[in-house]
Amino acid sequence: MMGLLPSCGNKKEETPEPPKAMNVIYMIGDGMALPQVYAAMLASGEDMTFSQFPYIGVVDTHSASNDITDSAAAGTALASDHKTKNGMVGMNPDTIPVKTVLEALAEQGKETGIVVSCYVTHATPATFYAKVPKRSKYEDIAVQMAENPYINLIIGGGRKHFNHRKDSLDLVARMENELGWKVYDTLANIDETCKKYAVLANNDHMPHAAERGDFLPRAVKTALRTLDDAENGFFLMVEGSQIDFACHANDSTWMMDEMLDFDYAIKVALDYAKEKGNTLVVVTADHETGGLTLPDPLGKYTNVVFDYSTGSHTCLPVMVYAYGPGAEQFTGWMQNRDLKAKIMNACGFENISDSIPENDGPKIKAIKVNLDSNANN
Ligand SMILES: [Zn+2]
Repeated sequence: MMGLLPSCGNKKEETPEPPKAMNVIYMIGDGMALPQVYAAMLASGEDMTFSQFPYIGVVDTHSASNDITDSAAAGTALASDHKTKNGMVGMNPDTIPVKTVLEALAEQGKETGIVVSCYVTHATPATFYAKVPKRSKYEDIAVQMAENPYINLIIGGGRKHFNHRKDSLDLVARMENELGWKVYDTLANIDETCKKYAVLANNDHMPHAAERGDFLPRAVKTALRTLDDAENGFFLMVEGSQIDFACHANDSTWMMDEMLDFDYAIKVALDYAKEKGNTLVVVTADHETGGLTLPDPLGKYTNVVFDYSTGSHTCLPVMVYAYGPGAEQFTGWMQNRDLKAKIMNACGFENISDSIPENDGPKIKAIKVNLDSNANN
């Protein structure tokens, strides 16, 4: 009767399987490294949502072709497990299309959404659904978006790539009449129970944060209401698109507006995840823009200013912040192409990658460049 004795003492305790993520909210601040985040914390004097994430890591952003990436190569790496050449969307350096985390999770039955404050056809959102060798092929990207079977909802600007096209195609009409979409031009009055809709809320990029109000956080709320009842969960990508634009312009006021706007969008996502308990939130960036530092120009260590060193991108690594099931994987030093596998793993799926690490591209040569320029001074 030994078998009936209650177990105690030397019986090994079974470790319960860690919970899997049912839903994923993947948030990308374009051009947002630690200087942008900390500058916003200092200037706003507010407790920003960034400080609430229990797991934080560092992400190396260099592309397969350049020390300094652009949004197309970085987005491709964040969306798939491939680094690629600057300018390329959803393809490896040999122009072979790669599978994105949105597509892989849709194949596992998850509903999907994309919410941005730029064109929906801009580099970062495009890397999740399109495959083109050049990011500037907006009209091709728009067609690929319209024909993509995996996207349930998409919200942002860029309507002109759908209905003011060089080929005169009325892609909005085709989406509605042939491809099963509902297309709206505002977040107001949309049918949130519809499972395939696009909100093309501006012809161009969305206006600056100061003018567009709470569009981005409201769009995230709308998307979450739509995706909330998804039987097998959902994948939602959200981009704070214009942090990059503001930093290209070295415009601190604009950057602050965009950072606070993105932080509010992150709060919406984090509040949802805290309430549900089954949602992984991953916040990261594609690269740094502006070479932002926070020195005291007088050297007194008391009056910090925002100081930009370039109107372009830099090779500075970015941070990743994670909350929810599987979040503990997002610590330490990683490559941008590592995030897809971690997300798939958090959801309980094996990530089969055909990425070749030796194709990771150049090692950063910035230190050598700095030493050379110091020698000249
Ligand atoms: Zn940029």
